[in-house]
Amino acid sequence: MPAITVADTSTLPRVPSIDPGSTARPVTKIVSSIEAEEGAGILVHRPFPGGLSMPEADPFLLLDHAGPKHNGPGETKGGPWHPHRGFETVTYLLDGELAHQDTGGGGGVIRAGDIQWMTAGRGVLHDELPTERMYREGGPFHAVQLWVNLPRAEKMTEPRYQTIPANALRLMTSDDGRAVVRLIAGEIGAVRGPGETHTPLTYAHVTLPRGAQLEVPWPAEFSAFAYALTGYGFVGADRRSLDPDQLAVFGPGDHIVVRAADDQTEPLELLLLGGLPIREPIVHYGPFVMNTRDEILDAFDDYQAGRFGTIPTDQLADRSFA
Ligand code: MN
Repeated sequence: MPAITVADTSTLPRVPSIDPGSTARPVTKIVSSIEAEEGAGILVHRPFPGGLSMPEADPFLLLDHAGPKHNGPGETKGGPWHPHRGFETVTYLLDGELAHQDTGGGGGVIRAGDIQWMTAGRGVLHDELPTERMYREGGPFHAVQLWVNLPRAEKMTEPRYQTIPANALRLMTSDDGRAVVRLIAGEIGAVRGPGETHTPLTYAHVTLPRGAQLEVPWPAEFSAFAYALTGYGFVGADRRSLDPDQLAVFGPGDHIVVRAADDQTEPLELLLLGGLPIREPIVHYGPFVMNTRDEILDAFDDYQAGRFGTIPTDQLADRSFA
């Protein structure tokens, strides 16, 4: 797990302790991922949409998990030029190298632990490809892409691009110092993650060694989910088991409880995520997510009219790396 980590957790801020009287959020559903192919043939595990619908994942739309795996030379696939409108794509690269470029002017290479947060807003074209080194030499690859919805009032906002380097993630630990929490966006206690969001949400990557437990205060008005990247564990006060590529959905309450299994040598690597539900109609067609069918048709018109920008002429031919 080459995501950013820390050898000595003793100096890290602590996740606030749970108030007496605080209610642990019950687990209402455990969702297994479906397998899907994205881009030029990236195999992903997808907990939503699928076992969980887009409205149930509010304010999120899609979660794709690729790897962890070891790619041979020429095996790393990407997503060549394609459009998006009406939401944000957040790519968290745990291992490997990816190059991004978009017609909003954003771009760059992200490596282990880095994040690329792209607000498509009114529309961009982008491509997401392995670097030439990653493509030719192969190597470990592990990535997550989260789609975050935008409310009606911001679906046509100007595109924006945030590169969040691994060392900008805010690290925290539990009272016993065993958990590593990497806060990507939102707040846990007084600590605020680096990602700038359009609506209130919290997104974190947590590592729990064997038998370690973490209790995290979570805003009662937020949805709450835990996704197991790797490793085995338990979720909720009644310790429902959570296997790799499964998503736990939490019901109402004040805090989340997650725990790594006692009998595993590998730690539990989890994403914790949730936010204020947007509660607006969702019409999804391919790379466009809007509120009405007419708006989807407008997106096609604008895309075909070139209003999402222009692919650089030297990149019109198929290519396997950036
Ligand atoms: Mn894309």
